[in-house]
Amino acid sequence: EAGEEFADEDDAETPANEWVEQTTPGRFAGKTIIVTGAGSGIGRATASRIAREGGRVIAVDISQPRLDEFAASLPDADIVPVAADITDYSGIAAIVDAAGQAVDGLANIAGIMDDMTPIHEVTDQVWQRVFAVNVEGTMKLMRAVVPGMLARGRGSIVNTASEAALRGSAAGVAYTASKHAVAGLTKSSAFMYGPSGIRVNAVAPGPVITNIEAKFASELGAQRVQHAMAILPTPVMPDQLAASITFLLSDDGVNINGVLLPSDGGWSAI
Ligand code: NAD
Repeated sequence: EAGEEFADEDDAETPANEWVEQTTPGRFAGKTIIVTGAGSGIGRATASRIAREGGRVIAVDISQPRLDEFAASLPDADIVPVAADITDYSGIAAIVDAAGQAVDGLANIAGIMDDMTPIHEVTDQVWQRVFAVNVEGTMKLMRAVVPGMLARGRGSIVNTASEAALRGSAAGVAYTASKHAVAGLTKSSAFMYGPSGIRVNAVAPGPVITNIEAKFASELGAQRVQHAMAILPTPVMPDQLAASITFLLSDDGVNINGVLLPSDGGWSAI
């Protein structure tokens, strides 16, 4: 078979489609990074990667047990768990207190999705909670850390949009509208703060195997997303998103500002 002459024993043990994380030791050394949603999924994978690359992680989640489990998984890392609701001003104050003055980076990853509700079924309560977490939580934390970044003349922020920020989505009207708002929040801030040394980018993940993604696999999810399911790519593990997010967040992303980076294996190109 073509290429067979280049195969070695390692290739035989590592299937071509299996991705192996390669950390960059020390990439976040000396840096304090706030990561929201650090108790699960993409946030946890990102917080873990930053901690394993030497950063001090202010790990934020609304769930104390999830945070405890995460912190216990990396006993030697510099992790400061903060159980807080990012929609709540006392929660924002607790995060800022724990982080101290010098915040180098903010990864806004906490987010929620409802049951993929169309507009004629969405309740005010669902709409408001989805916007409170996905949009206002992101905005409130940015507003809290930007003054310190402006004073120091540097900083990096990565927000979490979605494939649902790029086009109409089966993810539901509130979620899709909220992720479009995250894109606007990101681009507008990049434009305003770029000259002051602060980069603001967003990732737009395709399907990732997490609690949120499990909803698509439910019976209700299957009914609601029949069409989209036909073209959904295979979901990836959260580590693959952490690779994209830490790239934008770190100095490796030095010249990148204001992008909405699809991290979806090419789905957005369809
Ligand atoms: P997840 O449910 O596994 O993790 C989200 C975490 O955020 C949870 O630990 C939850 O407790 C926390 N959280 C929720 N509300 C909070 C609040 N008010 N304050 C603090 N923490 C709160 O989900 P995930 O899939 O890892 O999602 C992470 C982000 O990625 C979300 O913004 C989501 O919209 C986005 N996203 C996910 C996918 C996917 O396929 N999983 C695709 C596109 C975008």
